[in-house]
Amino acid sequence: MNMRAPVFWACALAAWLPAAPALAWGPLSHAIIAQRAFAELAPRAPWLAPHRDAFDWGAACADLQEAPGAPYLSRARTHASDSLRGLWREAQASHDRGAQAFVVGWAVHVGADDAFDAYESAHGPGWAGKDAPPALLGWAVDALLIPKAGPALTRLGRAAAMHLESPASAPIAAMVGRVLAVDDATYQGWARLTASACLGGPDRYLAERARALRLEPFTAAALEPPARLALGDLTPWLTRAVRGGVDRARALAKAAPDPRHEKETR
Ligand SMILES: [Zn+2]
Repeated sequence: MNMRAPVFWACALAAWLPAAPALAWGPLSHAIIAQRAFAELAPRAPWLAPHRDAFDWGAACADLQEAPGAPYLSRARTHASDSLRGLWREAQASHDRGAQAFVVGWAVHVGADDAFDAYESAHGPGWAGKDAPPALLGWAVDALLIPKAGPALTRLGRAAAMHLESPASAPIAAMVGRVLAVDDATYQGWARLTASACLGGPDRYLAERARALRLEPFTAAALEPPARLALGDLTPWLTRAVRGGVDRARALAKAAPDPRHEKETR
């Protein structure tokens, strides 16, 4: 037997596997941004308050293209304005405030990512060496923000777990499935991965994210002081992301009737 054959097949399979996608803020960063955005949005939209978990989950679920087995789903699609409008139309039509809060969280995510794109242009290329994969930047930002996370990581883990195969969240899963043409396994897979990573504490979160994004060979160097220093001060970028997220959520609500006059179904 040709001894090179297995090597050939390993290479062929590796080439076939989807490349780790370029990513923006990681789930932890999004959870921190969502926490701040919620504090701005809720006083003017009190109907959001009882649906905090749906809002938090929506703010992480928008990266559904990272779900295991979802190479058919692109970030361009999950973050498209059309997708967001489609979700909002369905949530409005359903008169389900949990679904509406979920979509507002999704809008915050999409608006916040615009700020990361600007951050990536400023800090991205070469910050950790020319071989560093693009996804390492979001991972390293997450690592740097852990001391600022407060309860955000656990809150996101609980929100994802609550929406994992629960009858109460079935309408949300069905809505996402219809609008983005994703199967239930993709949605549940992302909820499971998020819950598992976030509920194990910061170390497990970083380890699981590194494994999922195939970053393990690079993470030690990304935590070294020079690399951390190269990331710069994240405070103004977070502020910009929160601003972008809040603006996007408000623009969405303006584009359709406010649900405040709807019947309370809880
Ligand atoms: Zn995103």
